[in-house]
Amino acid sequence: MKITFLGTGTSQGVPVVGCKCDVCQSNNPKDNRLRTSVLVETDDEIFTIDAGPDFRQQMLRQKVSKLDAILVTHGHKDHVGGMDDIRAFNFLQKKPMTVWANELATASIRSEFAYAFADDKYPGVPDFDLKLISNNDIIIGNTKITPIPLKHLNLTVHAFRIGNFTYITDANFIPEVSWKLIEGTEILVINALRKEKHISHFNLKEAMEVVNIIKPKKTYLTHISHLMGLHSKISKVLPDNVEFAYDGLILKTNS
Ligand SMILES: [Zn+2]
Ligand SMILES: [Zn+2]
Ligand SMILES: [Zn+2]
Repeated sequence: MKITFLGTGTSQGVPVVGCKCDVCQSNNPKDNRLRTSVLVETDDEIFTIDAGPDFRQQMLRQKVSKLDAILVTHGHKDHVGGMDDIRAFNFLQKKPMTVWANELATASIRSEFAYAFADDKYPGVPDFDLKLISNNDIIIGNTKITPIPLKHLNLTVHAFRIGNFTYITDANFIPEVSWKLIEGTEILVINALRKEKHISHFNLKEAMEVVNIIKPKKTYLTHISHLMGLHSKISKVLPDNVEFAYDGLILKTNS
């Protein structure tokens, strides 16, 4: 399985519009972060986790010409805001886009893109095939994906586990039942917003506490704010088996 980081930035992206800080002014491409998403390529299918406001740009940048599904972690705008552009795939593939989302995220998508669910649709609107995430595994082609419920302040968000790979974003609390589902993960992606405490995201210290419990072979931090600092500087503070993800980073797993 091949994982490509399409975006690794927090909700505003990095650079932040109008910001003059060192990170936002940096020439290092690793300091440019589109909104958080990954592309997952298995032996037979290709899907993204989330489709935020940069979805169109991410599909173009990665030259994606086929997309089988989108898995949604939660309904915040930075994770679903780009779904109008599934139209391109509707047109190419001549079918609705399969979108897996939990109950609250489904409600967000329906309200965000109400015109796509209207009784009398304008021609050419995005065509969704919404599928509800429950406690059951999701099957996409030959791949089994386990949804893992987590808390993002008081909102239920879903992490996803595929074999030895687990992808967590926008969480700041892992319920007891979910630890068991994450156990044994060898490659972990987890959100780490910044160094300071935040109300709804793990900060760097809290993400590292999760890493120290799960003990994956390799961890990648994502959903990063400009407040975290320059990639070249912050990378030096991490242990060898943990790194800050960056846009375009590719991982290969054997799951
Ligand atoms: Zn987010
Ligand atoms: Zn900045
Ligand atoms: Zn969020």
